[in-house]
Amino acid sequence: MKLTKLLALVLVIALAVCAFAACGGNDTEQPQTNLDGVNPDTGDNSNVNTDGVDPTPVITELGKDTLVMGTNAEFEPFEYRENDEIVGYDVDTAKAIADFVGMDFSVEDMAFDSLITALNSGQIDMVVAGMSVTDERLEQVNFSNPYYRAAQVIIVPKEGATVASSADLAGKKIGVQEGTTGDIYVEENVENADLNRFKKAVDAAIDLANGRLDAVVLDEQPALRIVAQNDALTVLDEALTEEEYAIAVRKDNPELLSAINACLDDLAETGKTDELLTKYGLNVEDAE
Ligand code: GLN
Repeated sequence: MKLTKLLALVLVIALAVCAFAACGGNDTEQPQTNLDGVNPDTGDNSNVNTDGVDPTPVITELGKDTLVMGTNAEFEPFEYRENDEIVGYDVDTAKAIADFVGMDFSVEDMAFDSLITALNSGQIDMVVAGMSVTDERLEQVNFSNPYYRAAQVIIVPKEGATVASSADLAGKKIGVQEGTTGDIYVEENVENADLNRFKKAVDAAIDLANGRLDAVVLDEQPALRIVAQNDALTVLDEALTEEEYAIAVRKDNPELLSAINACLDDLAETGKTDELLTKYGLNVEDAE
């Protein structure tokens, strides 16, 4: 009897060892199966994600109900203050975009050279500030389709000007608005310029009128507004650059970008763009 019991015990142990061995075999196989399955799964998942991008309402994507425009309200007729209110072509366009996506609207006014940082930190949703498309900016933001053709021009005193064309700018005292394409133009193209950077173009114009500068380099339309309000100044008839204004959005916000482009198309097709250009004294032929 004892022997039978012992044999039974040996049998049980043998079976158990066999079972363990079998399990061990399964264990080593299962991870292999899993590993084999991972690659196709990953491929499938990325395909699904790419294909699955559906146009969703911007309001859902942004997770908020107010669309915040960032600008520098020193750029008439695109953005400027009138009776303490920020108005202008860009403001009306941005309001139309907010309507288009069904969101409330607000404006944040700040220094021009802070706008891209404010955009990328989420403080504002879009930059609408007569901002020209440049390669350097394209590394940091996405731009909408362009909405206005622009150029840098030279403002000089009417009397006793020392600058008659861009060829005379070398070595002169030149005022620009900090961080703008005017600033970049002078820095890159004018030899030995005494470059004076201002937060507001109007302040550069005041220094020019007071004889502290030889010239101011600025975007054409704001330059024309400044000289219209200052008898002592005039704009030279020479375009230094060819630029295009567009609306900047964060690179991770393609939904807002397509909504802006759709809205710009809609405004053009319905004649609203021309209406706004005329309202602000801009050239219809310079709209894109
Ligand atoms: N168009 C110029 C730029 O993009 C100036 C814009 C502005 O001063 N608001 O740099």
